[in-house]
Amino acid sequence: MKCYICEKQGMDTDAVGICIICGMGLCMDHLIREEQPVWEGGYPFPSQKLGRTLPRILCEDCAAAVKKGR
Ligand SMILES: [Zn+2]
Ligand SMILES: [Zn+2]
Repeated sequence: MKCYICEKQGMDTDAVGICIICGMGLCMDHLIREEQPVWEGGYPFPSQKLGRTLPRILCEDCAAAVKKGR
C-alpha cells in the first residue's frame, strides 16, 4: 500500500501504517501515533473494552477531527 497523502502530492511512498478511522495508508512522515486510553463511544471504532492504553495511528485529518471533538 502507498501513503495516501504522498500519493496526492505526486510522491510514491510506501505506507508503514493505516489510519484506524478512515483506513488510509500513511508513511512515517504523515502518520500520527498517539498513546491513548481506550476511548468511550462516539467514534466508529471496534467497541472493545481493553482496559489499557494502545498506540493509535491516525492521519492528520482524523487526528484534527478527534481533537476538535473532545
Ligand atoms: Zn506520506
Ligand atoms: Zn484518517
